[in-house]
Amino acid sequence: MNALQASGAQFLRAYPSSSFELARLADQQGLTLPLRSVVTGSEPLYPLQREMLEQVFSCKVFDFYGMAERVAYAAQCEHGHYHLNPEYSWVEILDEHDKPTDDFGFVVGTTFHNDVMPLLRYRISDQARWVKGTCTCGRSYPRIELSSGKVEDQLFDREGTAVSASVITFAFKGLANIRKSQVAQLGLGEWEVRVVPETGFTEGDSQALLANIEHHVSDKIKVKVRLVDDLARLPSGKFKWVSQEWPGARRM
Ligand SMILES: [Zn+2]
Repeated sequence: MNALQASGAQFLRAYPSSSFELARLADQQGLTLPLRSVVTGSEPLYPLQREMLEQVFSCKVFDFYGMAERVAYAAQCEHGHYHLNPEYSWVEILDEHDKPTDDFGFVVGTTFHNDVMPLLRYRISDQARWVKGTCTCGRSYPRIELSSGKVEDQLFDREGTAVSASVITFAFKGLANIRKSQVAQLGLGEWEVRVVPETGFTEGDSQALLANIEHHVSDKIKVKVRLVDDLARLPSGKFKWVSQEWPGARRM
């Protein structure tokens, strides 16, 4: 935080997980640093992360959506809507039968700017749906709503109902003694919450977390809390907060 301030930084661009980690530590120490905006991308941005970032950096968070294959790019406007950049690629939203859908479907893109390795109608495992009508910001670029997380990391309760990663974040609200966390599904209705604890973490924090999950997320899951020393990032440096590790999930 001191280095950011000394550099005269006005913007912060980072992964949601790493900027949240910085904001959370700053908040613990009562530090704030007013910026003009925080720009996040590459991982799903959860409401709890946005709230903490906006509080510590006293500005709006603008999230963008893109991927290494570069077949779609969308960025949030000041009203929080994701506008696609039509000069970047042609984007379709297709169902599992490759038919256009107005519901959530797979993001399929054709690049306009990659002459060396053009990808044609390349399907990403992200899901999104079209948002109809015009945006209050006045921009006419089409809007999409993203489903949080990758399809392959969707978690389910014991009845096979999909549980939104954004909803899982509610269980962590107000729990101060958790440094890092990760939620994984290991079996039918069996989840494990991996927690890197702060020094003050007690059994009471575990119980509060479990009660929150039952109350705010679902009572149709068996959840265990496992304390760990650290949580690994992917080789790209990204962090997977929600992790589907049950082979049976592929048949859901
Ligand atoms: Zn807009």
